[in-house]
Amino acid sequence: MQPSASAAILGRLSALVGAKNVLTQKEDLIPYSFDGTAAMKQMPGCVVFVESAAQVRDILRLANETLTPVVTRGSGTGLSGGSLPSPDCIVLCTVRMNRILEVDRANLTILVEPGVTTVQVADAATAAGLFYPPDPGSMRISTIGGNVAENSGGLRGLKYGITRNYVMGLEVVLPDGELLWTGNKCVKDVAGYSLKDLFVGSEGTLGVITKVLLKLIPKPAAKKTMVATFAAMDRAAQTVSDIIAAQIIPCTLEFLDRTTIHCVEDYAKVGLPLDCEALLLMETDGHPAAVEEEAARMAELARNNGALAVRLAKDEAEATKLAAARRSAFSALARVAPTTILEDATVPRSELARMIRFVDEVAKKFNLRIGTFGHMGDGNLHPTFLTDERNESEMRRVHEAFQEIFTEAIRLGGTITGEHGVGLAKKDFLPKFAGDAQMRVMRALRQSLDPRGILNPGKMFD
Ligand SMILES: Cc1cc2nc3c(=O)[nH]c(=O)nc-3n(C[C@H](O)[C@H](O)[C@H](O)COP(=O)(O)OP(=O)(O)OC[C@H]3O[C@@H](n4cnc5c(N)ncnc54)[C@H](O)[C@@H]3O)c2cc1C
Repeated sequence: MQPSASAAILGRLSALVGAKNVLTQKEDLIPYSFDGTAAMKQMPGCVVFVESAAQVRDILRLANETLTPVVTRGSGTGLSGGSLPSPDCIVLCTVRMNRILEVDRANLTILVEPGVTTVQVADAATAAGLFYPPDPGSMRISTIGGNVAENSGGLRGLKYGITRNYVMGLEVVLPDGELLWTGNKCVKDVAGYSLKDLFVGSEGTLGVITKVLLKLIPKPAAKKTMVATFAAMDRAAQTVSDIIAAQIIPCTLEFLDRTTIHCVEDYAKVGLPLDCEALLLMETDGHPAAVEEEAARMAELARNNGALAVRLAKDEAEATKLAAARRSAFSALARVAPTTILEDATVPRSELARMIRFVDEVAKKFNLRIGTFGHMGDGNLHPTFLTDERNESEMRRVHEAFQEIFTEAIRLGGTITGEHGVGLAKKDFLPKFAGDAQMRVMRALRQSLDPRGILNPGKMFD
């Protein structure tokens, strides 16, 4: 098969990073023609593996000169089409920039390259007796660069916050090749605009992140994990509202609906109870006395809401198994239909029960199969469409169902994406959500950093 990028550009890329680090053949490019998002594919011109910020700089200079689009890619687990190639683009893959550069126990920080996986960051923190809380379901594979670019959340977001809350500094190569460092190890720093916050969640459109300085925190001394089951989703949602209203902030408050529970049990075989409509996975951590008290109160609130059963994990091994089962929800659902489209509409917590009922009505109205799970404590739902992209009429109904779900989320004061980003998948909904003034400012920022439009063109907005 002939490569689709021009021979001159390929020759210059090979000179910059070595021919073995440039993929050009169609069969090699196919794995980079999609990410974790269903029903989206586009072949790139080539894939380049970078090992240093200097290589990134040289590639961006070349891209600027030749007006070649560049799409930065970590592990490609994104769920909004963020790392989907543009036609004939250079896919700039960071997975070989995978060194942990420093763990600073005195300042409680870790400095890593962008291709380090999330779990490697968490493990390095644990090895130093510290804790890195953000734990996206994909943490075994996703890169920290991808986490920062998407501002990813995780199961512990409710108590500990999301990726943004841990980013203290970033090294970024700007679209014209200039290297910028923003942030530092200071706990307080208000000098100038907080540029690092501009790059967090920028989805590969404003620069390529080449180093990440993260905050670590002390490890909680104790933890208790439990599962509560309910005959109705409303009861689970009410339990979540009551826990928050009781001023308890658990580290995890996740839910699975009936469809998801059955798929997960079928897949992970962890002994989840099957005789229920909804399951809450609840975890509290911190000082042993506080954990004891909070766990007892959460169990009581679940029972007050008619929980069918409340089961405490007997040890760390069982707790880990339950969290792993929840993390496998997407993969478990993906086994039962040819196409799995996972969404992340998010609403204020007070509107959760209403939104869950709405998703249910939409599924019935459009005759679609939807499994719903998610970070209930954050108001972050993952309605997951179990469908088949070859069935055109069903895909049309899926699209209409999405429109209704996002419109309702916005109406309830929510957002079109709580953690997966806009990318290509939510691009059409962004103007309606963000409004004219925000769209104008976002366009102006992008134009000023990337006037030639080479970085991730067509993503987030045109
Ligand atoms: C099974 C599964 C479970 C998931 N669970 C969660 C979850 O719980 N929470 C959550 O938030 N997400 C979740 N995700 C989505 C996804 O894993 C995250 O968005 C993750 O952060 C993407 O990381 P990645 O390395 O795969 O990035 P990619 O998919 O490769 O890229 C994502 C975006 O980041 C940009 N990018 C990547 N690296 C850089 C860089 N170095 N500099 C600049 N831009 C860059 C890309 O251009 C793209 O726009 C899940 C995905 C799957 C498949």
